[in-house]
Amino acid sequence: MISVVAPVYNEGPGVERFAERMAEVLDGHDYELILIDDGSADDSWSRIASLALLDPRVRGLRLSRNFGKEAALLAGLEQAAGDATVVIDADLQHPPSAIPEMIRRWRAGAQVVEAVKRNRTGQSLSSRLGARVFNRAFTRLTQVDLVDATDFRLLARPALEALLRMPEHSSFFRGTSSWIGFTRETVEVDIEHREGGASRWTARALFRLAVNGLTSFTSAPLHLVTLVGLTFAAFSVVLGVQTLVRWVQGHSVAGFPTVILLLLVTGTFVLLGLGVIGEYLARIHEEVRGRPRYLIRERAGGTLPSPGVPE
Ligand code: UDP
Ligand code: MG
Repeated sequence: MISVVAPVYNEGPGVERFAERMAEVLDGHDYELILIDDGSADDSWSRIASLALLDPRVRGLRLSRNFGKEAALLAGLEQAAGDATVVIDADLQHPPSAIPEMIRRWRAGAQVVEAVKRNRTGQSLSSRLGARVFNRAFTRLTQVDLVDATDFRLLARPALEALLRMPEHSSFFRGTSSWIGFTRETVEVDIEHREGGASRWTARALFRLAVNGLTSFTSAPLHLVTLVGLTFAAFSVVLGVQTLVRWVQGHSVAGFPTVILLLLVTGTFVLLGLGVIGEYLARIHEEVRGRPRYLIRERAGGTLPSPGVPE
């Protein structure tokens, strides 16, 4: 059986369009469609609920508020019962037509099938640029290849179980689903234009995702702080000696601009360094608190197993 997990946030009528497309591409397969309503403010939930009522293959899960796509994905993945699970956006930007090919690859032995972007037509220039910079930096720092990666993936049962064993609270699906290893294959897809409205990600949420992703995968930024600190130390020895020598020689103390510049540079660096450390500290704080990663408000359809209890 194939499970399809799709997070839904204010997708409105897009929900039905999406479910129809899934029924089309998965025709002939035994499948379940798990739609997770991530605290939508529109009628997404009632649409999901009525879909689940009409079609026994559709199940709905409603989170108690907007927990973000990562948490919604996790909620869905914990419910997935299939031998293979496909994770896909509900906005039809991930072309469903690629699913049969992913299933073929899985049948041929792949345990993780990733869809990689051939183009980025569906995105604005700034988000393309941001994604590019982040993906390259991430790949370089962590050895987890994110270049052209998407969240559109198929995970075989063993890979999914490995993924769900990760205890992290602020998860980063794109990274963790690569980190687990297993036999991997990629298929190229064209990202479609978004039909229903604009991206549900705010710039702020995207920035948080980037920081979370980085801090959960590498401590390189911390080492960078150390490195810059050491460089500054070397400079300060040279400048210090020079200043002392001049003072001994009785030269008057000039160099007001130098003082200002040094103050600015050191001040900036000290604050940035603190910020980097703070980001890691915040993550530790979050993990230690150990709150549940999402809360379920309602379910619809299917014979749902008891809630996946987050460890
Ligand atoms: N989404 C979600 N919670 C959020 C933001 C987005 O569940 O807080 C869902 C959204 O409904 C969609 C998917 O995540 O199915 C991808 O979001 P979107 O298309 O807005 O992002 P983009 O395509 O711009 O990356
Ligand atoms: Mg989208």
